[in-house]
Amino acid sequence: MQVGREVSKVLAFLLLLGCGLVGCDEDSIEAASATSAVEPAFTPVLMRVLAEPIATPGSDQRWHLVYELELRNATTGHAVLEQVEVRDPVRAMTLAAFSGEDLTQRLQVAGQRVSAALLDTAQFGVLYLHLSFPDESSVPLTLEHRVTAYADAAPPDQKSGISTGGISAVARSPQVVLGPPLRGQRYFAADGCCTAPRHIRALLPLNGEYRLSQRFAIDWEQLDAENRIYVGPRSDPRSYFIYGQEALAVADATVATAVDGLPEATPGEYPQGLNLTEADGNHVILDLGQGVYVLYAHFQPGSVSVRTGDRVQRGQVLGRVGNSGNSLVPHLHLHVMDAPSGLVANGLPYMFDHFRITGINKVGTADFDHAEATGEPVTITPIEPPSDHVNQLPLDLTVIDWLND
Ligand SMILES: [Zn+2]
Repeated sequence: MQVGREVSKVLAFLLLLGCGLVGCDEDSIEAASATSAVEPAFTPVLMRVLAEPIATPGSDQRWHLVYELELRNATTGHAVLEQVEVRDPVRAMTLAAFSGEDLTQRLQVAGQRVSAALLDTAQFGVLYLHLSFPDESSVPLTLEHRVTAYADAAPPDQKSGISTGGISAVARSPQVVLGPPLRGQRYFAADGCCTAPRHIRALLPLNGEYRLSQRFAIDWEQLDAENRIYVGPRSDPRSYFIYGQEALAVADATVATAVDGLPEATPGEYPQGLNLTEADGNHVILDLGQGVYVLYAHFQPGSVSVRTGDRVQRGQVLGRVGNSGNSLVPHLHLHVMDAPSGLVANGLPYMFDHFRITGINKVGTADFDHAEATGEPVTITPIEPPSDHVNQLPLDLTVIDWLND
């Protein structure tokens, strides 16, 4: 609803720009469309933004845009992508340009990593994009994309060319502010915003559309004083420090879904043979109102303490962190989305109203994966002194203390 308002604001703005050239009565708007016919330009690559990006403040004090650009080769030959520019058409400036290895790394064709930024005949790919800005006023109202590509089947004089498109508004809402989902200290934000691929690239063709409900998901782990995820047998869920922690309602809400009774998997290997409806394991979805829903996944069997339809209050216990569903090790998977389904929804950014960052892993997800596989410590650089954050999204690989009410 709010998002729609942003779109119409931008459309109104673009219309104003158009009528600014020729005067502003209705006749002149018609005249403008009659006289300012767009020059035809052959564009071998067609493009569209899959979901309107929403600007979000992160714990690095920057504003972030995370979104996907679908690119389709509309020719009968190959289209070799050379560069993708993201532009602000209102301010007439280039915001970012991707080429070479950077472009290749961001492109997936039919869900696969590619070794070259090349689209085969009639093939399409999805480019995963992340932009950040120093403050809210720098975030554009609109995005436009320019793709430089070599199309071997294009007319002789147009084999190398620039395709322009993928125009999208940038939303500022909904602004989702949440309370702590857990209690205590030394929680590690794994696979979070804005480049770790496991959640951000979890694009699924569901119910006739692409869905990316996990775009801003975080897998929460807890570390001990030595920054280990578990101590003891790797295959015993009780070895993990987060196992059994109480998950808390992040806001006053209605329980849209509460599922319990699914078994836990043995930590260290993904369970086999799960269907899509079992992926979240024992889980709770809260309805926060205004089209905002929060998913908590992978609870211990028998621990879900709310039922579908219950009203819950911020801070109320919903269940205990476990290892049910499609889970490698015990953790709390939490994300926010625009529909009451863990998968058939569009993932929304969110902020926590108050938290403290005490450390950060500067090595990367591979270091976290190693710690998870071996029981060795995650490599953490302490933040001295710890930094308190208000209304921000904790970014990937940070260590958080929750400041509960
Ligand atoms: Zn997850």
